[in-house]
Amino acid sequence: MATIPELLRAGRTLSVEFFPPKTPEGHAQLDATLRAFEPLHLSFVSVTYGAGGTNRDVTREIVVGINDAWPFPAMPHLTCIGHSRVELEAMLDDYVAAGIDNVLALAGDPPADGSPAEGDFTYASELVDLVRARGDMAIGVAAFPEVHPRSADRAEDRRHLAAKLAAADFGITQFFFDPDDYLVMIDELAALGCHTPVLPGIMPMTNPTSIRRFAAMNDAAFPEELAAKVEAAVDGAERLRIVVDSTVELCQELLDRGVPGLHFYCLNRPEVTLGVVEALGLR
Ligand code: FAD
Repeated sequence: MATIPELLRAGRTLSVEFFPPKTPEGHAQLDATLRAFEPLHLSFVSVTYGAGGTNRDVTREIVVGINDAWPFPAMPHLTCIGHSRVELEAMLDDYVAAGIDNVLALAGDPPADGSPAEGDFTYASELVDLVRARGDMAIGVAAFPEVHPRSADRAEDRRHLAAKLAAADFGITQFFFDPDDYLVMIDELAALGCHTPVLPGIMPMTNPTSIRRFAAMNDAAFPEELAAKVEAAVDGAERLRIVVDSTVELCQELLDRGVPGLHFYCLNRPEVTLGVVEALGLR
């Protein structure tokens, strides 16, 4: 199967992120979503990883299951904070033995109580180096258009990001709602000599309450006007239309500006992504 960098070199990609379900109903929902996405001919999917390794077996099970059963690669997310080198090497060995060719290399978050993280790693770039030294997987990394909340300032954020992307094969962004946040980041990276493709992560405004909370945690802008429209919708159909229309507008602007692909945070449900892809004429 092609690696994600090979797919990106071949043309614009269309991909989605899943999270590992916790219940039998959640697993059934994910299976149904995968089947609903069949007409989209997805380029790849990615599966999140519980920070510090919680739920790690489910991530592995979902990734390997999709990679075996579907004609597109499934990429595990992997965080390094809190892990030892030996642990991560064992997980990477296991993924390679199971036929997984791509990994999203992340730092994860330090303990919320402010205590120092245990383990051998502090930054995602150290995990990138570990994977690269082994030489058997393509590597994606995270990018934050509105600057990562742990960065001291914008210039430092961009310097570390450019260095990390230069060592990796591609990036995927945190969600954002203003296309300029993404486009300015790409220009800033180019000014630092970094031209590694970075896929925009698209979060439809399906659940304003949780996105508002998450945006606040990440010091990211939140479009209250759009959220208010979604919250005021008279029924599910109107809500879906508002969410799809606003996501189409964002995606169309990004496509017009030549993004390398679109990566949807679909939250294991197909409706919005299907509606957006249909409206964009990408099916
Ligand atoms: P890093 O690249 O290490 O950056 C973190 C901070 O450290 C930044 O401020 C950066 O500027 C700074 N920094 C980097 N290198 C250095 C250096 N050498 N010296 C000083 N400072 C430095 N989390 C999960 O737990 N599970 C997931 O599945 C998951 N998936 C994600 C997917 C995407 C697409 C994105 C965007 C995020 C995801 N996250 C996930 C969240 C991520 O783990 C957190 O945001 C984390 O806080 C930062 O991860 P990072 O890989 O960007 O870290």
